Amino acid sequence: MDSFTYEGLPSRVVFGWDALASLPAEIDRLGVRRVLVLATPPQRAEADRIAGLIGDRAAGLFAGAVMHTPVEVTEQALAVVRECGADATLAVGGGSTTGLGKAVAVRTDLPQIVVPTTYAGSEMTPILGETENGVKTTRRDPRILPELVVYDPALTLSLPPALSATSGMNAIAHAVEALYARDRNPIVSLMSEEGIRALASALPAIVRDPADWKARERALYGAWLCGVALGTVGMALHHKLCHVLGGSFDLPHAETHTVVLPHAVAYNAAAAPAAMAAVERALGGRQGHRSAAEGLRRLAEAVGAPVALKDIGMPADGIDRAADLATANPYWNPRPIEHAAIRALIEDAWEGRSPGATVPRA
Ligand code: NAD
Repeated sequence: MDSFTYEGLPSRVVFGWDALASLPAEIDRLGVRRVLVLATPPQRAEADRIAGLIGDRAAGLFAGAVMHTPVEVTEQALAVVRECGADATLAVGGGSTTGLGKAVAVRTDLPQIVVPTTYAGSEMTPILGETENGVKTTRRDPRILPELVVYDPALTLSLPPALSATSGMNAIAHAVEALYARDRNPIVSLMSEEGIRALASALPAIVRDPADWKARERALYGAWLCGVALGTVGMALHHKLCHVLGGSFDLPHAETHTVVLPHAVAYNAAAAPAAMAAVERALGGRQGHRSAAEGLRRLAEAVGAPVALKDIGMPADGIDRAADLATANPYWNPRPIEHAAIRALIEDAWEGRSPGATVPRA
């Protein structure tokens, strides 16, 4: 066995149907009394309902969270924190709302509670991406990790099937890269394989019937595991590509992950055979695939997700720029980053070709 280092992230997780009912006791246990509830504008009503559940522990509601955590929005939220004397935040939502809670915490050290409603997994990571003057930067800091996460699958029932599918593929991407991370370790690999297994079986069922409560439960469980993987070990080519594509062309986050993942996996396959075997096991026989990359592509197709960057808003003349940016300051990757091969990968993903179609072998 290879030697390894494992560092667990200190957060408390409460998971289950009606886990929301434990929020008042959990808030008291955390020792906070004036909680500012955060949400996106469309999730204001849900956040308001949850504020009602915690009674006078709710100090206020700020429903202004948006994608990419712009610093201007964080400043508005900080003003509300001061006005209402909040001593904690409670983010109700996906990665955008969680990002706002993190941005507040890194500036104030206020404890964070998160009630996730997507599968993005941000609630499990000490990572914050924010934008200022159109530039997105990412930082890692222990203060960014939320203290308490309450997963109640009931809150995901309203997540539309298309967003459930891509959000779930986004989660799978964290686990796939964790399996071949340079700092991988046996615990995170177990969690990653199990996370992929749970999501790969749940997503097609959710798309068929968004009210399938067993599938909703399994997907959220998988999302938790994949989020831990993202927070604990380093990510590689796939996350770098999505960061570049999302940042440069303002592409939608979860859809970009969904399209790129099979291509990144095909690129790395020969350099990470143990990870590929784990992904194939986790996907099971359902997709009838002959490789991890093909299985992930078939899963995306099975859930009706986009499979081409050209279909989610990337311009054709962006391929060269993306290849330059993705190879300029690459993350560590199991296969060396080669400009011609990365350009071919991006072109394959743009066209929606089979993963690895025109990428030269390592
Ligand atoms: P999101 O939070 O932007 O949500 C997408 C939309 O879905 C929003 O309009 C939201 O209000 C709505 N929505 C969320 N849950 C819903 C539900 N249950 N029912 C109905 N509507 C619902 O999307 P996301 O994919 O969760 O997060 C993406 C953002 O999170 C990106 O900015 C990404 O960079 C960030 N992210 C960060 C990390 C990290 O570790 N820092 C990890 C993953 C994602």
